[in-house]
Amino acid sequence: MLPPDLIIENGLLLTLVDGDKPIPHATLLIQGDRIAAILGPDEKRPSFEQTQVLDATGCIIMPGLVNAHGHTAMTLFRGLADDLPLKQWLFEKIFPAEAKHLSEDSVYWGALLGCAEMIASGTTTVSDGYFFQDSTARAFQKAGLRAIVAQGVIDFPAPGVPDPTQNLAAGKAFVERWKHLSELIKPGLFCHSLSTCSDRTLQGAMRLSQEFSLPLQIHLSETLGEVEEVIRRTGKRPVLHLQDLGLLNQSLIGVHAVHLDDEEIDLLARNKVGIVHSPESNMKLASGMARVTDLVNKGIVIGLGTDGCASNNNLDLFKEMDTAAKLDKVRTLDPVNMGAMTVLKMATVWGAKVLGLDKEIGTIEVGKKADIITVDLAKPHLVPLYNPYSTIVYSASGSDVKDVIVNGRVLMRNRAFTALDAEEVMARVREISAKIRS
Ligand SMILES: [Zn+2]
Repeated sequence: MLPPDLIIENGLLLTLVDGDKPIPHATLLIQGDRIAAILGPDEKRPSFEQTQVLDATGCIIMPGLVNAHGHTAMTLFRGLADDLPLKQWLFEKIFPAEAKHLSEDSVYWGALLGCAEMIASGTTTVSDGYFFQDSTARAFQKAGLRAIVAQGVIDFPAPGVPDPTQNLAAGKAFVERWKHLSELIKPGLFCHSLSTCSDRTLQGAMRLSQEFSLPLQIHLSETLGEVEEVIRRTGKRPVLHLQDLGLLNQSLIGVHAVHLDDEEIDLLARNKVGIVHSPESNMKLASGMARVTDLVNKGIVIGLGTDGCASNNNLDLFKEMDTAAKLDKVRTLDPVNMGAMTVLKMATVWGAKVLGLDKEIGTIEVGKKADIITVDLAKPHLVPLYNPYSTIVYSASGSDVKDVIVNGRVLMRNRAFTALDAEEVMARVREISAKIRS
């Protein structure tokens, strides 16, 4: 074989392929952007002189995490407004701060800070929805992350799109600009919600998404108030209204999906709508508890997302996994529900499937893209190791991630960034936050 470009060796490999057992002392050979070979403990690798080697002794090797929903540049507003009801938080704090302080420059630095945080906690793919998305896409390119970058669509004057009648035209122009610009960045559309987008806007966004074969994200049934508002306006629950509008199909990604009845869950399952669960945001804004086990049991594909930093207030998917597992046990009063493996799949292969990327990422298999992380087990809180899946979900945190590889490129090695100057990024965001504070 050709010499690999990168070798990760001697770690405990969790492929997350159905039926695979953990492989001790495993070695991965990576050529270019893909996994070329996986060697078990008894297979000796040939020696290659020039190849970069990551020693994963004492580490878990696993797929990089997929953050299936976020607003990355909202790191700018981390801790600006906490402990408020969603409507007051959004309309009195967040929307005004965004109107005043978002610009091409601030979104770029905010997104880059989010990239640094996500890389440092093992996220290799993110699905983002926001404004000034050319800046977000440039930040992801600079950081080296894989991303779906979706232009925000809302029927209000929005940052970068002051005339709401132009919201879909701005979305289309963004999609056309980024369609072929980058291997790692795929464009998309993000309709804010049923409360902030008209029926016409929603239908137009779906038409565009299907024309360009893109996912369409929407915040769906996040709060009871939002559900009641839709029922008052349309006479129907939100998912039924979306069905009337022709939006229920595989392109749609419903984020939050907290307040669903049985009929809505059946409709989502039948129409193969992807769902993103954001338990920490739902808890912090007291939106409620999504019926995640019910959704999983109906065969709905569910990813895990941190949501924006103003409602979380971090982008660490390890914390999100722990919370996702425990919250559904509390909701159902059944500790059997939402086991570690289920949650780990939500944060990797299922998230990739929601985003339409599961043929390329989400598991560790020969031929797939090399999006890989290592987790250092030489920490007091990670000893002993009986069940590595349990250790990842219930004991580890993002700061235990040691190395991060995206598309075959090492973005963090032994906790040092290779593509980002984190000190500079933090300094720039501190400068911007001084203006936001004043
Ligand atoms: Zn969101």
